[in-house]
Amino acid sequence: MVFRCCVNIRRPAGPAVLAVACALMVAAAAPPTDEEMTMKRKQMVEKQMERRGITDARVLEALRAVERHRFVPETAQEDAYEDYPLAIGFGQTISQPYIVALMTESIEPKPGDRVLEIGTGSGYQAAVLSLLVKDVYSIEIVEELGLAAAERLAQLGYDNVHVRVGDGYQGWPEHAPFDAIVVTAAPPEIPQALVDQLAEGGRMVIPVGTSYQELLMVEKKNGKVSRRVITVVRFVPMVPEKK
Ligand code: SAH
Repeated sequence: MVFRCCVNIRRPAGPAVLAVACALMVAAAAPPTDEEMTMKRKQMVEKQMERRGITDARVLEALRAVERHRFVPETAQEDAYEDYPLAIGFGQTISQPYIVALMTESIEPKPGDRVLEIGTGSGYQAAVLSLLVKDVYSIEIVEELGLAAAERLAQLGYDNVHVRVGDGYQGWPEHAPFDAIVVTAAPPEIPQALVDQLAEGGRMVIPVGTSYQELLMVEKKNGKVSRRVITVVRFVPMVPEKK
C-alpha cells in the first residue's frame, strides 16, 4: 500500500523526497497504539453510555476494561469504539456498544451469577459479562464464529466464559438454571426452553420480532413470568438450526 502511494506521486521527485513521503505514509497508516485505544474506550463510555443514562458503575468499568478492538476484524479496528455495529463476517455483526451496555445493565449482573448468552458472535458481550459475573455460558450457531470467539476469549484470559457451538433455541440445559440470559439475536417469539432455564428471580433480555424488534425484559418471580419493553432495536435474526 505504501509502495503504491509512492508510485502515485505525480511530480518527479528525488529518492530522498520519496523516502520522506513514504515514511510519512507509514506513520499515517501505523495502527493506533494501546494508549490511543484506551482513550477511545474512555470516550466511548462517557459519550455513548453515561450520557445516555447507563449508571451501573461496575458495568461502566467493565466496558472501559474490555478491549473491544480485539473482537473486530483487523480492518475495522479503527472503528471499534464508534457508535454503530460492525460486521464480523458470516453476515453477522458485533452490536453497537450502547446496546451491549444497555443489555448488560438491564440484567443487573451480580458477582455470583451464572449467565447464558445466545449468539457468541465475536465474544465481546461475553467478555463484558465475564468481568461482572461468576460464569458465562455462550452458544453460537455458526461454527467458525464460535471456534474463533472461544480461541480469542481464551487468549485474552477470559477463563470463565464457556463457548459451545449449537442451537441457542435449546438453551444449555446441562448448566441451567441461569440467573440471567442475554439473547443477542432476534427470535420471532420468546423461546420456551430459555424461559424454562431461567432461575427463580432470573432476568432475561431478548430482542423479539422480525425486521425491527422490541427489546424485552423477561422476569421470573414466584414462578410467574412477566415481560416489559425496554426499547426498539434491530438485531440479526436468530436462525433455527439446519437439520
Ligand atoms: N453477542 C455478539 C454479537 C451477536 S450477533 C458479540 O458480542 O459479538 C448474533 C449472533 O447470533 C451471530 O453470531 C449469529 O450467528 C448468532 N445466532 C443466530 N442464530 C442463532 C441460534 N439459533 N443459536 C445460537 N446463535 C445464533
